[in-house]
Amino acid sequence: MTSPFPTLPAKLHSLVRAFLDTPDAVAETLTRYGSPAHLIFPQVYSENLATLRAELDSRLPRHRICYAHKVNQARAFVRTAEHAGIAIDVASPYEFARAVGAGFTPTRIEVTGPKGEAFLRDLVGCGATVNVDNLWELRRIIELAEESARVPVLLRVSGFDAGQVSRFGVPLAHLPQAFDLLSTQRSRITFLGFAFHLDSGDLGERVRAIDACLAAVERAYDWGLAPSVLDIGGGFRQVFTADAERFDAYVLALRESLLGRGEPMSWSSNTFGYHIAGGAVHGTPVFHKYANTVPASGMLADLLDAPLERHGGRTVANVVGENLLELWLEPGKALVDHAGVTVATVEFVKELADGTVLVNVDLSRDSVTPADQEVMVDPIVLPGAGGEPAPAGCPTASHAIAESGPVGVYFAGRLCLERDLITNHKVWLPERPRPGDLVVFPNTAAYHMDLSAASASMHPLTAKLAVSRHSSGFQVVGDTDYEPHVPADLPPRPVVPHSPRRPPRPVRPAEAP
Ligand SMILES: *Cc1c(COP(=O)(O)O)cnc(C)c1O
Repeated sequence: MTSPFPTLPAKLHSLVRAFLDTPDAVAETLTRYGSPAHLIFPQVYSENLATLRAELDSRLPRHRICYAHKVNQARAFVRTAEHAGIAIDVASPYEFARAVGAGFTPTRIEVTGPKGEAFLRDLVGCGATVNVDNLWELRRIIELAEESARVPVLLRVSGFDAGQVSRFGVPLAHLPQAFDLLSTQRSRITFLGFAFHLDSGDLGERVRAIDACLAAVERAYDWGLAPSVLDIGGGFRQVFTADAERFDAYVLALRESLLGRGEPMSWSSNTFGYHIAGGAVHGTPVFHKYANTVPASGMLADLLDAPLERHGGRTVANVVGENLLELWLEPGKALVDHAGVTVATVEFVKELADGTVLVNVDLSRDSVTPADQEVMVDPIVLPGAGGEPAPAGCPTASHAIAESGPVGVYFAGRLCLERDLITNHKVWLPERPRPGDLVVFPNTAAYHMDLSAASASMHPLTAKLAVSRHSSGFQVVGDTDYEPHVPADLPPRPVVPHSPRRPPRPVRPAEAP
């Protein structure tokens, strides 16, 4: 059924859809564990991992996937990653401890991001790979490391496109200083290779970064160094929308409304990053990622198959393979795409002086929205048990409203802050929700749950529950109680040992240092 109103239908994984469609499954989960709740689907994570692996396996024999822990704090995902035999990328002592607690040996842990003195002290000599962000960090590791510590180190580099400045990584122009240190401190440091991480979805930018790293590999040989790893980071995209045309139609209607045409569609004076001037809407909205239709696996395939001009048009996968480099990846959002939803309960529905309808839920914006973004997929309302009246003593509750038919609403959070709106754009629902109805926010596992979540007004952080499907039906457990189960026909992969040092086959012959 196509809606006569602008809508933003969410793509849902079939397993998540099946759980939401199981009569009373969501309601019983909230009755047992409380509302609101984040529901994690580790089996969807496993499927995402298998899809990425298949792209790598078919092109490159040597690769390593490091799950970027910062995308979600759930232990269930960390356990699933450990069980699947991949590595993990941690960015704090807390994530490091979580990884070790979930069974990762340090040789399967890579540490990225800015690291302070105390963290570095813990890292040298523990066996984990340090993805070095800057020259201070490299010098400090050398000072802290024992004479024969051989700390495995990746060097993060940045500044591939002219005029593009990143706060992370060693600028390409500063590499000689790093090479001097690396070549004279071989007993303290084992130089594995180069790393980068780009947040952009642009293929060309990534290809240029890979090309620059390959050139850096060649330069490193001049110092007698033998890099064997190329770490291309994360940034592989998610697909949120189930219908790109309806998404575009919604955005068109929203832009019209910002020009004062048609029904108002934005709360307060929000323009979503658009700039309105001269009777037109300009710029890129903050929510552009919700329009993406290329899945992470497609992005990865395009990258591996991209031709490298400097290498006679051979593909990235070919050149990396021929030079015996091991390709490392640090996917975060690509692994948790569709592997989580957030469920809240409608407390009351109220009407404002201008007729605006607010649906208040028992959740705040920061628990379902990453930082300042606007989430452009429609929440799904599941009718509650019998439409309970609004809580007594709430002067703004309006349970007299009982119209039927489609309605445009804004979802409002539970904090006493004007800005605690969960949607700043209007959402059309088939009918007006009632107190006790359940609201499902789709695809929240990547950054939506944890990146900004605070405990304002002393509300505790929203609980995480792991949902898995078994032959007997769905099972829900607390996040920390989840254990991956082994399907009888699918043994877990053997743990990949840390890449051994091996003689390089230089891109061009190494000169004596
Ligand atoms: C955040 C981060 C990632 C993961 O990024 P995604 O976009 O979630 O894939 C990987 N590597 C580094 C260094 C990061 O900071």
